[in-house]
Amino acid sequence: MGDVVVIGAGVAGIQAALDIAGHGIHVHLIEREPSIGGHMAQLDKTFPTNDCSMCILSPKMVDVQRNPYITLYTCAEVEKIEGSVGNFSVTIKRYPRYIDESTCNGCGDCIQICPVEVYNRFDAGIGVRKAIYKPQPQSVPDIVIKDPDHCIECGLCYDVCGPGSVLHEDAPKEITIPAASVVISTGYSVFDAKNKPQFGHLLLPDVITSLELERMINASGPTGGNIKRLSDGEIPRIIVFIQCVGSRDMTINRPYCSCVCCMQAVKNALLIKEKYPDSEVIICYMDIRSYGKGYEEYYERAKALGVKFIRGMPSDVYTDNNGMTLQIEDSETSEVLVLHPDLVVLSVGIGPAEKTGQIAEHFGIPLEDTGFVKPVHDAVDTVATIRPGIYLAGTTTAPRDIPDSVASGGSAAMRAYIDAIRTRSA
Ligand SMILES: Cc1cc2nc3c(=O)[nH]c(=O)nc-3n(C[C@H](O)[C@H](O)[C@H](O)COP(=O)(O)OP(=O)(O)OC[C@H]3O[C@@H](n4cnc5c(N)ncnc54)[C@H](O)[C@@H]3O)c2cc1C
Ligand code: SF4
Ligand code: SF4
Ligand code: SF4
Repeated sequence: MGDVVVIGAGVAGIQAALDIAGHGIHVHLIEREPSIGGHMAQLDKTFPTNDCSMCILSPKMVDVQRNPYITLYTCAEVEKIEGSVGNFSVTIKRYPRYIDESTCNGCGDCIQICPVEVYNRFDAGIGVRKAIYKPQPQSVPDIVIKDPDHCIECGLCYDVCGPGSVLHEDAPKEITIPAASVVISTGYSVFDAKNKPQFGHLLLPDVITSLELERMINASGPTGGNIKRLSDGEIPRIIVFIQCVGSRDMTINRPYCSCVCCMQAVKNALLIKEKYPDSEVIICYMDIRSYGKGYEEYYERAKALGVKFIRGMPSDVYTDNNGMTLQIEDSETSEVLVLHPDLVVLSVGIGPAEKTGQIAEHFGIPLEDTGFVKPVHDAVDTVATIRPGIYLAGTTTAPRDIPDSVASGGSAAMRAYIDAIRTRSA
């Protein structure tokens, strides 16, 4: 009794778990992926400081694993919740990993020998992984997972594994955890750009999303940090970003601003200009939202470095005799411009994480019309829900940047901690 359950181990959930555990309260951290870290683990640098994303996140991930007050459950989702504040009972289901977690030492010999390569979701579609794999280069826990849908049962990994950790059979497990309070930090998903087919994602090889660009620009990513055209492996000379793809768009019921994609584009434009000074980088935008500390200065820095900003939204991206083409009316000059980019980056918006509706239903809390979880009050309390003892952190409630996600993780932690202390002293 008096423990806390945190659901979702992106940066917000990790911060909440560390803050609660730092006060000597036991935390059960539930993550559906095989590693913790969430979207921040996919990023290269973070705006506006251009700090290396993993250099900030990785120590926190390792602290989670080492903290005796945190029990981590990966490959796990909530099945059921009963009770009320001070006396919740949270039932989770753990999906099979086909690995003995107590003996796997993460040596990676099985990965080396596995002959099967498949699409790698962590690399946002531009890299491959094996049928037995580590979900990311700095996974926590630092062990592998076997993917039964792609494994051809060749037997090589069983033979090479010294401790005999690869399992032929494994089954889901149900675990019930008593808790005083719960933090939901299940985060976001990026807009699926194929729902805007006019921009050519998955139809034209050199149209990629902003998340794919993050993996490409990352030194530990599938291209070793080199920006390449997927069609021919060449370095692109003219790169065009299209903003607000899947945001501020009533035609697809996403009227809201996704908050981070302007600064994401400015960041990656800066990184490209620094690495390839001869490149031409153009950002096509409707408005630039540079609302945070140091963000306006960051935007000015990009302009000073030669990044071009055109106010307008192209209607589509197509190919003609000159290669990829897009037309855009610059609303500041009324001039119609025709661009022939080598690479197009779609700055995709942020929406609720998959299964957010299911989580809200389990917990008996409402959703916004946008699908994000509704806090008790949008102006003065974005952490509490209508159910006492259940709190929200990070992008579960709305698009946010990393500083805001971390701050809300800390805030939710304090509220959940108070419930835990009250339960213990009751
Ligand atoms: C292309 C791009 C670039 C960006 N660049 C920056 C930047 O430079 N600087 C910046 O400040 N922000 C940036 N952001 C925003 C940043 O990614 C977010 O602010 C931050 O990652 C939010 O963290 P989170 O913990 O709220 O969510 P997430 O990172 O989404 O974490 C949620 C976690 O919950 C898990 N989860 C989801 N559902 C369940 C479930 N049902 N059960 C259990 N677990 C579940 C997920 O697997 C995940 O691990 C960028 C965003 C994008 C798309
Ligand atoms: S399963 Fe075996 S070979 Fe693979 S990483 Fe674990 S210990 Fe190494
Ligand atoms: S048994 Fe499956 S996971 Fe193991 S090496 Fe063969 S294909 Fe890969
Ligand atoms: S942050 Fe910028 S790109 Fe993203 S939705 Fe808002 S205005 Fe559009």
